[in-house]
Amino acid sequence: MAGAFGLKGCQKIRGPQLRNLLEAKDFILLDCDGVIWHGETAVTGAAKAVSSLIRHGKHVVFVTNNCTRPRESYVHKFCRLGFTDVMLEQIFSSSYCSALYLRDVVKVRGQVYVMGCDGLRTELEGAGVPCVEEADEAGATIYDCALAADVKAVLVGHDDKLTFLKLAKASCYLRDPDCLFLATDNDPWHPLSGGRILPGSGSLTAALEVSSGRKATVIGKPSRFMFECISSQFSGAEPAKCLMIGDRLETDMLFGSNCGLDTMLTLTGVSQLEDAHEYRDSELSANRGLVPDYVVDSIADFLPAFEEVDEQSD
Ligand SMILES: [Mg+2]
Repeated sequence: MAGAFGLKGCQKIRGPQLRNLLEAKDFILLDCDGVIWHGETAVTGAAKAVSSLIRHGKHVVFVTNNCTRPRESYVHKFCRLGFTDVMLEQIFSSSYCSALYLRDVVKVRGQVYVMGCDGLRTELEGAGVPCVEEADEAGATIYDCALAADVKAVLVGHDDKLTFLKLAKASCYLRDPDCLFLATDNDPWHPLSGGRILPGSGSLTAALEVSSGRKATVIGKPSRFMFECISSQFSGAEPAKCLMIGDRLETDMLFGSNCGLDTMLTLTGVSQLEDAHEYRDSELSANRGLVPDYVVDSIADFLPAFEEVDEQSD
């Protein structure tokens, strides 16, 4: 844990200390939005920092709760924003991990009802997990619409075309106690420009939890499952060798803590240093997992640390 490099809790780190920390880790796990980009704009210096990590032999893995696009589409986005050396195998999204969970862990027999974007459905179908066709006739209501007979799981993700009918159908499927209830992630909201916000998957899951009287199993961060996916696909991805970097205390830092990883908060996204200090100074022991071990202003802070390594090896 963080003991080897300093006191636990919000340690601002740069220069030689940052270099030593990076040298001690083989796997760098990065959240995406708020860390390497904001929507369609790359964080200044992030592409160069990611390239430097890869060039210095680090396994760089992207761990995102964004479930709206399949991994292929992510590869294009990485490329478009200047991250030209990122491969499909490095990307772990909550939609991809949900597909793995349904196929390999619970081995779902029957169809999955998806309350989410097309990208989530695409990822499931790519993994061979059958989904209920979403094609209600215009004007259909919960009183007269067709319900599939073999739905064995309801999966909720971000859904920008949510309708009352979808919510009602999902609630009906969940009346069957053998029908699993999963959520890609529990993110409450996402920041937009101009002070606006986008309700996240967690807000839709909450609606369905109330109507069904059940609790969803969450696949994405802070649940441990995404790390299990990573460690099953990369040999040597042991917790002590991994550093989790993110911008949100309640998902990224808690995920890292839950998995026994060192954690680093970058101040280019949702959570600010004061939020981390509030958790650190809180008397509630449940808040300890939300406190980052390390803090940087931006992932671009890695660049001077690497330059020193490069100078030493010249
Ligand atoms: Mg983020």
